[in-house]
Amino acid sequence: MKKQHFQTIFKTGTAILLCGIALTGCGTKNQQNVTTNITTVGNTALEQPMRLEALKDDETDYQAYWGTKIQCITRGEHGYYYLTPEEPLYLMYWDDDTQESIKLCAKADCNHDNAACNAYFGDVRYYDRTAQAAEYASGFQIYYYNGFLYLLGTEGNLIQVSPDGSERKRITKVYDYDGTSNTKLVFYENAVYVYNSAGNQGSSEEHTETITRYTLDGKSQERVVEWNSVSGAIHSVKNYGNTMFFLLSGLTINKNESGQEWTYTYQGLYAYNHQTGQSGKIIDAEITSYAVDEEQEQIYYFAYADGLYVYDIKTERTRKLYDAGKEMGIAEMSYDGKYLYLYNGEWVSYAKSNEKTELTRKCAVLATDGTVLYELPINKAGYMLFGNGDYIFAEQIVADEQQQAMKLTYMKKTEFARGQWQVLE
Ligand SMILES: [Zn+2]
Repeated sequence: MKKQHFQTIFKTGTAILLCGIALTGCGTKNQQNVTTNITTVGNTALEQPMRLEALKDDETDYQAYWGTKIQCITRGEHGYYYLTPEEPLYLMYWDDDTQESIKLCAKADCNHDNAACNAYFGDVRYYDRTAQAAEYASGFQIYYYNGFLYLLGTEGNLIQVSPDGSERKRITKVYDYDGTSNTKLVFYENAVYVYNSAGNQGSSEEHTETITRYTLDGKSQERVVEWNSVSGAIHSVKNYGNTMFFLLSGLTINKNESGQEWTYTYQGLYAYNHQTGQSGKIIDAEITSYAVDEEQEQIYYFAYADGLYVYDIKTERTRKLYDAGKEMGIAEMSYDGKYLYLYNGEWVSYAKSNEKTELTRKCAVLATDGTVLYELPINKAGYMLFGNGDYIFAEQIVADEQQQAMKLTYMKKTEFARGQWQVLE
């Protein structure tokens, strides 16, 4: 069980976990201090301030309320689709009405427990590349867009699945699968935008980070954002109306006798305008996460080791809403139209490694004026997935009498005061 859990984290991991693992491998080779810095050679356009036009809400649900660290759950027409948190992967469906999960397979005489099942998405540990048979899901990302589910496959393909699970189609190759999957997707106007959220963080060589657009008919592709950096990453890409937002950040790694120290450099909030094709910087601050309120035309953002701010798109004014204090120096955030959520999981890992401090994982639930309404506990190794509608979701280790295992859990928003997670099964 432990090994599977490790694999879960590794494959979906945040930059912190990934770099931690990468360094375990190379730490013995280089005992000197190593410092890497961000550069933006050839990317002067990206560094230009860009004024945001009014966000045109086109009534499409781009599901920007999910967390971007992992997204193993997505919202469909009448329920949620998700991948089981441990391998072998099965595609599951949780129906709004029945509130029960089923494996997404309607095959007669199927026990839903082997590779022949329509819901089966494999176990990458046993994936045989030479066999070129069924393509497994390479990670835990799943997306719903315009009537279909989308996953990333072990041959690097974008895989389209019908909402009843009966049909799978390879659309086109969108990335090179190398055993880890930090490749993430965003959808807009029958195209998918693909990026690698870990970038080349931890490396000392310059590399071009990209967001590439592929049409869903598989016929064309185009790089829409490029950023040259050393140890940098484009991450937290979210679409709101005609604008795709993203963050740029870097990781400086100092190795010394007592171990390694990671320092994050957050470059700010950037945007790509689908109509004009222009990219630029929207907010110059050390932003670890953000969420956009399209109705009020406001951007909420969390500033590193500081707190929560709100930026008004029309007036271009910024106000501080919440001082996060020592327990939350890096937050991942989400906005569901009513509440703001701040999750400190990445900061807990950072504090443990850099400051040797044990902090408690939690998700703060705030009103839009910055008042903390609830603090939800998250179990060890947990990931907040967030969510719109009536529920929020988290992946976390749940123990019963026999064992502990990574589970998908949910909480009804009307029951935040109780703070009790329930296992989705
Ligand atoms: Zn089946």
